[in-house]
Amino acid sequence: MSSATDVPALPLNTGAEIPQIGFGTFQIPPEDTAEVVTQALRSGYRSIDTASMYDNEEGVGEAVAQSDVPREELFVTTKLGNHDHGRDSAGAALDASLERLGLDYVDLYLIHWPIPSQDRYVETWEALEDAHADGRARAIGVSNFHPEHLERLAAETGTVPAVNQIELHPRLQQAELRAYHSEHGIVTEAWSPLAQGDLVEDPVLGEIAEALDRTPAQVMLRWHFQLGNVVIPKSVTPERIEGNIDIVGFELSEEQMQAIAGLDSDDGRTGPHPDRFPG
Ligand code: NDP
Repeated sequence: MSSATDVPALPLNTGAEIPQIGFGTFQIPPEDTAEVVTQALRSGYRSIDTASMYDNEEGVGEAVAQSDVPREELFVTTKLGNHDHGRDSAGAALDASLERLGLDYVDLYLIHWPIPSQDRYVETWEALEDAHADGRARAIGVSNFHPEHLERLAAETGTVPAVNQIELHPRLQQAELRAYHSEHGIVTEAWSPLAQGDLVEDPVLGEIAEALDRTPAQVMLRWHFQLGNVVIPKSVTPERIEGNIDIVGFELSEEQMQAIAGLDSDDGRTGPHPDRFPG
């Protein structure tokens, strides 16, 4: 089984590093979050992904506070809610998140959605630049941004996001965005890396899993890993939490990588389209 020390880290454009495997917390009920995140920390995860919209930052903070793992060995990400765009609101929203988390800094702060219909993501980004400068966020990034949104941030502020967290899994492989990220030194972080569990019955993945004596979820996560994506699988099930981080000690062949590449689909989204959310 993998341990925390086996999980490699990828460099960010700030000079810091992000563990390539983290733990997602979307849809974990607030009252269960401390216990589930504690289980994840015991299973070796050192990176935890939450958001103000998940309503469970307090539980994440409780697990961090109760853990023996020193704060400097943890990587905590949270995200700015959709109601908090705007230069002043964004700074206050980060303060409120830090308060709920019981932390004085986060390792990564993300704008959760660009909301192009409001057109405030550039001034919101300026508030994140301030938070990076004063140390409340060790790194800053975005989520669900498309190349045109990323271009505007770089052109109007000069600061390139460290990370873009996007929906990405074998059915939505995001070739264009991944290429853009590599060209600009942006780390690709995959949300719903397991397509919310929808792909575990896929026969192509099932066949590879059987050949390697692994689970389809491990095969999917290993595929991401070999592509250089950061993954943040979520589970409330102890054996899945353990299995999902145990992907370092085996490899997919080129042929198996190609077979999974063939699962890409034009309508593979499980979540909302970034241009139209929240409307
Ligand atoms: P995932 O792709 O991580 O899938 C989670 C689902 O898969 C759950 O139903 C879980 O069930 C199931 N599952 C987990 N492991 C296994 C396994 N080994 N075998 C079979 N089923 C499994 O989806 P998420 O949407 O949760 O995405 C991951 C994280 O990404 C989120 O938790 C959140 O942190 C982030 N995210 C970010 C978004 C953004 O806009 N930035 C949007 C959505 C997610 P169970 O829990 O019952 O075990």
